[in-house]
Amino acid sequence: MPRRHPKPAPRRGPAPPPRPDVARIAEQETRRREACAAKVRYDTEAEARSFALMHSPGRGPRASAYLCDVCGGWHLTRG
Ligand SMILES: [Zn+2]
Repeated sequence: MPRRHPKPAPRRGPAPPPRPDVARIAEQETRRREACAAKVRYDTEAEARSFALMHSPGRGPRASAYLCDVCGGWHLTRG
């Protein structure tokens, strides 16, 4: 019988704990920050809305303004 190298036994530790909500919230926070950095910031809702009206196409969904809780300014989003 050829000598077989024993395979290392798979380690079965305790299952990793599910990601806590904190991690998920932090991920969303990161995405919000990235979206914030990529968007134009307006100081007021009126400013954002007026810009959206001026530049909105005649058809299709109109951009709407939303208050950004990352920078405290206003951004435009579509849909
Ligand atoms: Zn922002």
